[in-house]
Amino acid sequence: MKHKNNFMLKILLSFILTVSCIKIATSGEKRMMNKNYTGNNPYYSRTDTTKLDLPDKEWKKILPDKLYRVARKKATEQPFTGEYRDQTGKGTYYCAACGNGLFRSDAWFASSCGWPSFFETMRPKSVIYETDTSHGMVRIEVLCGRCGAHLGHVFDDGPEPTGKRYCMNAISLDFEPDK
Ligand code: FE
Repeated sequence: MKHKNNFMLKILLSFILTVSCIKIATSGEKRMMNKNYTGNNPYYSRTDTTKLDLPDKEWKKILPDKLYRVARKKATEQPFTGEYRDQTGKGTYYCAACGNGLFRSDAWFASSCGWPSFFETMRPKSVIYETDTSHGMVRIEVLCGRCGAHLGHVFDDGPEPTGKRYCMNAISLDFEPDK
């Protein structure tokens, strides 16, 4: 009888252990499973702020095509087609290519331009700026401060307190709600 009880106890313990492991694995996966994460991007991190300087062929290998075209080839997604044009609730917007924190939801505002818009970045170093003279215009391009991904442009017609409008390609952003 004692032998049988031990056996049952062992079965029960392995069952509990298996269920816990599955639960831990699933929660980890959920945390990393944003829309662009291919599972093949070893540079993606929401905590590491070390700058990334990767060759284009590496980005082509690890990013989904649509994100690669916008983030690395500076394509612009069609207006009124991307996510985050409606309020998403409290949370953080990360760079879809590298996981760098870019915007807090408090800086999101309703814009009629057709792309998600923010009036300030999460940290001053979240992004970097470059002058963009393409398409016969002079605009300020906004790039990820960690990986250099093209995010969009910034204009001076935003709301107070900054007066800025960070006009972003939704594909370049990943939103994570606050816990
Ligand atoms: Fe990035």
